[in-house]
Parts: sequence; structure tokens; C-alpha cells
Amino acid sequence: MNGNSTNGAVPITVARGDGIGPEIMEATLAVLEAAKARLDITEIEIGEAMFHKGYSAGIAPESWDILRKNKVFLKAPITTPQGGGFKSLNVTVRKGLGLYSNVRPCVSYDPFVTTRHSDMDVVIIRENEEDLYAGIEYRQTDDVYQCLKLISRPGCERICRYAFEYARTNHRKKVTAFVKDNIMKITDGIFHQVFDEVAADYPEIEADHLIVDIGAARIADTPEIFDVIVTLNLYGDIISDIAAQITGSVGLAGSANIGDQSAMFEAIHGSAPPIAGKGIANPSGLLLASVMMLTHIGQPDVAEAIHNGWLTAIERGSHTGDIFDRKYSKQRCTTKEFTAALIDCLGEKPETLTPVSYSAKSADRNQTGIRVTVPAPAQKDLVGVDVFIDNRELTTDELAKQLVSTGGDLMNLQVISNRGTKVWPDGLPETFCSDHWRCRFLAKGDAPLATADLIGLYSRIDGTGLDVIKTENLYNFDGRPGFSAAQGS
Ligand code: NAD
Repeated sequence: MNGNSTNGAVPITVARGDGIGPEIMEATLAVLEAAKARLDITEIEIGEAMFHKGYSAGIAPESWDILRKNKVFLKAPITTPQGGGFKSLNVTVRKGLGLYSNVRPCVSYDPFVTTRHSDMDVVIIRENEEDLYAGIEYRQTDDVYQCLKLISRPGCERICRYAFEYARTNHRKKVTAFVKDNIMKITDGIFHQVFDEVAADYPEIEADHLIVDIGAARIADTPEIFDVIVTLNLYGDIISDIAAQITGSVGLAGSANIGDQSAMFEAIHGSAPPIAGKGIANPSGLLLASVMMLTHIGQPDVAEAIHNGWLTAIERGSHTGDIFDRKYSKQRCTTKEFTAALIDCLGEKPETLTPVSYSAKSADRNQTGIRVTVPAPAQKDLVGVDVFIDNRELTTDELAKQLVSTGGDLMNLQVISNRGTKVWPDGLPETFCSDHWRCRFLAKGDAPLATADLIGLYSRIDGTGLDVIKTENLYNFDGRPGFSAAQGS
């Protein structure tokens, strides 16, 4: 398997990772070798050891060159050390390589793997680069901490289009968007709006949406109603773990991270420290990720042989501890025993479970043709500013009294809110107030404001001695507010 790329071997990068990573990667590489995958492997070291060598992202700079050159990365899970200063390597690699789409098939293998959901076959397509995973966080006052949720229109369009393209290529019938736009009307709202626009280009595929909380509940209860789900980064992270777990074990699911240039394949679970080194981990998640990799690099024959061999081994009752059940399991396998059983089954097809069939056009190939529309720029008018103030001493009314006159001739103090809830004017006395106050100033007339007007405002507020911790400009886009109202406004 190792060697040069003269025999049609495809260059890939491999990292053995942390915790159970080395054990499940050894198993996966053994199966790939036995199945005669045509791979030219370069290994890199990432994870805990690199964090401790002082690389804050857990990866050495020269490894990026290898990843970029090979374009295909088979990665075992890694441990992100707790504590400040360490960045999640997974997030860094996904974002660094522009791997915007995370594809996570979750399938039940009833009756061989115990599950309450015998008919589950759902693919979760998770946006991989944006949302709260931008990792932009601040402590702003004694009481209040902030994490920015960033959602872009092109980011929404790319992932929604990817989901519909995936559905079309894989003969899936329905795509469901999970959002929370009843609360986050602007950020989740744009995702929902773009989803509807994209869906119109795929009339043969049913499109619907659910609020993420009831969507998660339905996944746990009736997962068979779903086909393809597309969602934002954090929701996708959570629901795909739920979906994988209810198939029987989180150790069963693999995932593909796809970008325009590169792709990364990994198990959806982590490094599972409690079972690391015991030789009992289920290698199936990483192995099925490697199957996705093989279809991606154009080796559907090998992918099919491994996947069908794996289904056969599962059907014959070779089960690691996480899926062991007296009724259908014949052997409680160590990682190595399961690997050997699977290698014995290569070339065979399952009898009860449905065999897979991959062609050159199968699933997880780069959707490099995906283009995003660039709408004409909107007319953007500065109409006000939210000034955030750190205050413990003054009551709400005292704070408002100090601020009212600072608006000057051009701006009015319109509302003060605390943690998003209106507290002035006419707030409710029960509302708990932290030390973090949002004071909204809006232009008095229709004429847009200029930056100099805001600087004048800040300087007047500064003159009162109040502690301004941040500001957020308020814009109208084509006459429509680009900002949310306070709760209770
Ligand atoms: P985890 O997925 O590593 O493990 C949770 C539990 O699930 C384990 O204790 C184990 O009981 C079970 N489990 C997971 N994989 C299994 C397998 N293959 N076979 C059998 N049982 C398995 O989640 P965690 O404990 O929250 O995270 C541990 C570490 O992994 C953390 O440092 C986290 O940051 C990291 N992590 C890495 C990745 C990644 O590299 N892609 C993903 C998630 C978590």
C-alpha cells in the first residue's frame, strides 16, 4: 500500500491521533491493505504530543504542506487538551482546508446491532466552518461572557446546495433543514431563507424544515422519518452524535469533511480516553470513514468490498464490546479480533442486511461545481448604535437618566436591555439585571448617520464617566433593519 503513486496509488495523509486513535487506525490500515486499496500514504503527527511540543493548534507548520499536497486526509480522533491556549485541531483543520461540508451517515443494522430504531438511514450534513465554532469569545464584564455566532449567506448557500446535490447523486428523496429561526431570526433566518431558495432548484426532492429542538426529539424518537438533514455547525454536531448513538453505538459512524480543494475522513466519535490502550475500541467509525474516502478518490470497487465485508462481519456476530448483545453477538471481539473477522469477510456480501453498491459516481466526491450566487450589494444606511455599558452602581432609571441627553440633536436613546430583555422604558421589575447593559441609540430623522456622529456620542457618554465596553453599529439594508429588537420591545 505504501510506495509511490506509479500504480495508480492515490496520495493520502494519515494521522494516528490520540487515545484509541492509534488502535483504530492500525485496524483500518490493516483492512485497507488486505482489500488492496491503492494508496500512497504519508503519515503526520498531530494532537496531544504536538500540543505539548508547543504547537498551539496541535500540528506542525510543515504538516500543512503535506495535507495541502495530498488533498486527502484520513484522521484518527485526537484529544484537545483542556484549558486555555489550546485550539481545537479538528476545527483548525476543517477551517484551514476549507472543508465546509461535514457528511455523517447514521444507519441502523437491525437486528444485528441492538437499536430501538430498526429502519434508520439518515445522512446529516453539517455546516463545518461557521456558527459559534468561529471561536470568537470574550469576557466583557464581571458577570458576562460572549461567543459570537457568525453566519454568512454564501456559507448557507454552499452547504444547502451541497445537501441537495448529495441527495440528487445518492437518490435520496427528502432534505430537511434544522434551524432555530423562531429565536435567531437573523442568523438562523438567513439559513432558512437560503435553504428555501436553493430547494426551489431541486423540485424533484422534497424539502421541509423543523425547529432544531423538536427535530432532535424526533431523531431520538422516529429517525426513520428523516432522509437527509442539513443544518448549522453546532446543531449538526449535537444531532449527529445523537443519531449515531441511537443506531447502537457512537463507535459505528464515519464522516467526510468535504471542501473544494481537500477532504478529510474521520470517525465521528472522539479519542475515548477511558478505553484507550485496552484494545477494545470499535474501529468501525474510522473504517466506514475510509470507505467514504475510497469512493471519494475513485476506488468504488475497494469501498464496496470493504463495506460489504464489514456488513457481513456484523451480521455474523463479530462484535466489539460497545455493540455486544447476547442475542445476536457470537463473539465479543477485541479491536484486533474484529479486524481479523472483517478481513476474513472481504469479498463476501451480507445475506440479511442490504449490500452496498458503489459506482464511480458514488456519494462523497467533491462537489467542486458548487457555485454561490452573489446578490447585488444592498443599500446600507447607518441608523444607530448599540452601546454596551458595564455598570453595577446605577439603577436602570439612573442609567437611562445619565444617557438620555448624550444622544444630542441626532440620536434618541430608544431602549435599554439587559441580557437581551428590555428593562427601560417600562421594563418589568422581575427581570434580573446583570452588569451588562445594551443601550440603543437610533437616529432621530430619516437621514443616515455618519461615523463622526457616533464618535460624538461616545465622547459625550465618556464624559458621564460610564464604562463603555463595546459598541455595535446598527444598519438598515435596503430600508430593512439589520438588527434584532430587544425582547419585550
Ligand atoms: P468520545 O467520543 O471520545 O467518547 C465518548 C464515549 O463513547 C467513550 O468514553 C466510549 O465509552 C464511547 N466510544 C467512543 N468511541 C468509541 C469506539 N470507537 N468504540 C467503543 N466505544 C467508543 O467523546 P468525549 O469523551 O467527549 O471526548 C474525548 C476526547 O475526544 C476529547 O478530548 C475531545 O475533544 C476529543 N474529540 C475528538 C474528536 C475528533 O478528533 N474528531 C471528536 C470528538 C471529540
